[in-house]
Amino acid sequence: MEILIAGGGIGGLAAAIACANAGHEAIVLERNREFTEIGAGIQLAPNAFHALDHLGVGSRVKELAVPVDELRLMDGPSGSTITQLALGKEYEAVFGNPYMVVHRTDLYHSLLDACQANSAIKLVTSCSVVGYSQGATYAQVNLEGGENIRADAVLGADGIRSSIRRQLVGDGDPKVSGHTIYRSIVPMEKVPEDLRWNAVTLWAGPKWHFVHYPIASGKYMNLAATVDNQATKPVVGKPACADSVKELFGGLDRQAKRLINLGEGWKEWVLCDRDPIECWTDGRVALLGDAAHPMLQYAAQGACMALEDAVLLGELLKEAAADSVAAALTRYNLIRKDRTADVVHAARYMGAQIYHASGDLAVNRNATFASMTPGDLHSVLDWLHGARPPFIGDREQRSEAEAATGKTQRSSLNAVA
Ligand SMILES: Cc1cc2nc3c(=O)[nH]c(=O)nc-3n(C[C@H](O)[C@H](O)[C@H](O)COP(=O)(O)OP(=O)(O)OC[C@H]3O[C@@H](n4cnc5c(N)ncnc54)[C@H](O)[C@@H]3O)c2cc1C
Repeated sequence: MEILIAGGGIGGLAAAIACANAGHEAIVLERNREFTEIGAGIQLAPNAFHALDHLGVGSRVKELAVPVDELRLMDGPSGSTITQLALGKEYEAVFGNPYMVVHRTDLYHSLLDACQANSAIKLVTSCSVVGYSQGATYAQVNLEGGENIRADAVLGADGIRSSIRRQLVGDGDPKVSGHTIYRSIVPMEKVPEDLRWNAVTLWAGPKWHFVHYPIASGKYMNLAATVDNQATKPVVGKPACADSVKELFGGLDRQAKRLINLGEGWKEWVLCDRDPIECWTDGRVALLGDAAHPMLQYAAQGACMALEDAVLLGELLKEAAADSVAAALTRYNLIRKDRTADVVHAARYMGAQIYHASGDLAVNRNATFASMTPGDLHSVLDWLHGARPPFIGDREQRSEAEAATGKTQRSSLNAVA
């Protein structure tokens, strides 16, 4: 089959590799003039590495990623440690792959290089998709300018403001969370030696939190400071003044403030997500990644979910032919919808109940984490970090079984469709 993929982000490129590995031809249509990603850090949990391994790029990404020693949760105002989860051998043995942080461009270029090296993948730039249409034997994308491109199936990997989703789901603009994130990257030589922690560190405060970790083989420290400032309009990468960032995070402990003070060239984003939906396929057309299930970044799983989507799609498309592709896409949707909805909700929960807690909620949070052993933390994370290809969990299997008996899920899918 020939499969059109709208959007060449992490999800679109991963899907192209998965389609090619399944024996099909993939054409990625990217609206930008070049295939590129913004330069900031991204955390990848073992489930992402399982997906990357499956796609054949795991070892390349691991070469470029930084293995961090631990996840650290700090009490932002007091500077005390709430909990630490070691990410060494024991963690890796439990989950089968490491937890690492990577410069986004390193992850992106590993996927892009694999696409460019694959003759079954065609990459097209300056190509803006505005919608789709389909008939009994084809699906096609409609491009800005009026041209149509026809293939056997269309995958909408065009991000949180997806054009394909606008037509397929029609649920309007994404939901503005009211939270603003400020991001900066600091050369490691500027970071005082006693603060060069090889950890993903999160300082939690009342209605704000601050995260930092090393990226690009430890050459930089990635800073991300988030505040619940009730922002009402989406903002994407607007330059922000360093003094305002310092002021916003004035409640931070002295040590963490030293890092915030190093930030330069801050950019801000107002974070958005969407409520989970049941149905993101329409015949030969399906969504993936942020187009299907955009989430707040608090579980650090948006890209991980896009990679999981791609792997499952590839596995299902291996068995599919032109006359059964719609059924394969429906199955993919059915399998993925509960897990990705759980992650959307988990990310919201983590933001509100853990990262931005104040008063009694913060006291209870600290006490709860203090009582947990590493084994307890592993158990809590297992559903998320422990998933493996083809990413069909127990709940998804139940969902499928219900669908097979004609109960709940499929009828609700149809209702949404
Ligand atoms: C601050 C922040 C931190 C994050 N941290 C993490 C983390 O640590 N770990 C993690 O797993 N995830 C993280 N995420 C989430 C992650 O970045 C996203 O989930 C992931 O990038 C989604 O990939 P995607 O390919 O689905 O969408 P995108 O990355 O949005 O890619 C969409 C692509 O489609 C293109 N496009 C858009 N519209 C069209 C069109 N009409 N026609 C053609 N092309 C189009 C775009 O130019 C883009 O290239 C974070 C997100 C944020 C905001």
